[in-house]
Amino acid sequence: MKLSEDIYFYPFSGTLENNCNTVALTGAVPVLIDPGHKHLWPGLKTKMADDGLNPEDFKLVLFTHCHPDHMEAGQILEEEYGATQAMSQEEKEFYEGPGQDFFPWMGLDLPTGYIGRIIEPGKLDLGDKGLNVYPTPGHSPGGICFHWPEEGLLVTGDIVFAHSFGRVDFPGGSISELYKSVEMLASVEPVKIVLPGHGPAIIGADAVKENFRSVLAMIKSYC
Ligand SMILES: [Zn+2]
Repeated sequence: MKLSEDIYFYPFSGTLENNCNTVALTGAVPVLIDPGHKHLWPGLKTKMADDGLNPEDFKLVLFTHCHPDHMEAGQILEEEYGATQAMSQEEKEFYEGPGQDFFPWMGLDLPTGYIGRIIEPGKLDLGDKGLNVYPTPGHSPGGICFHWPEEGLLVTGDIVFAHSFGRVDFPGGSISELYKSVEMLASVEPVKIVLPGHGPAIIGADAVKENFRSVLAMIKSYC
């Protein structure tokens, strides 16, 4: 689904399986954020093709965090198209340690792909655009979110959803860290589109503000 000239959103709509939403940003350095599960990649590839997007153009795959439902297909992008898989340093360390347990828990083989690039907090230069990278622990220790100020776009992974938030009961999760991360994201400006890791997009600056207000109140009630 094309949202603007360089922003494509692929919400997962299956009811029997879990998979994350995927975001594709085109332009000088096309990036794919959270490509999802391996076995669901053919469906995503078809949707991208319907929008005129070629997976071969996406040489950088960004992960908001290392959970298999967000990153498993990164291995395909690496092996078939020569893409580089990237996440934060802290998340890479978690992924290479206790984060590996998520794969057998979900009945999946351990991925053989390689995290070839570390995404630092601050500016991520993508040629004609720059994304701001924000560390957002709480759902996973080294989770990150992406802000594209010129487009008012915030990609929130499993930190903030529409009227909900990511689980904190997985290894490495923390409700107090999540609260701090959401509070920080709520102060990011300008934001008129939030693309979360699961569920529908939040469109419009007022809807975004209202969503942050309600989600912060929800999390606070658990703290
Ligand atoms: Zn997750």
